[in-house]
Amino acid sequence: MRTKSESIRILCTNHKKQNNMALKNLRIEEGCTACGLCEDIAPDVFKVEDEAIILEGADIAANEEDIREAADACPVEVIVFDED
Ligand code: SF4
Repeated sequence: MRTKSESIRILCTNHKKQNNMALKNLRIEEGCTACGLCEDIAPDVFKVEDEAIILEGADIAANEEDIREAADACPVEVIVFDED
């Protein structure tokens, strides 16, 4: 039987592995309400006017953490991507 600290370490390792997956094919599906959250969280990737767009030339790899946070925060869950 595992101790509590061993179980926590395993959970953290699994979480880290998930976040080490490369993010690709970032896109915004229909339904954006232009709330502005994604631009607040990841201003180097998202721009919001009538609706959110992904900035041309945005460095996706360098902003993965912020992109994941923006996707989690999006109230209508239209920020989507695939993982490698
Ligand atoms: S967080 Fe979602 S709804 Fe808000 S502007 Fe960005 S894509 Fe649109």
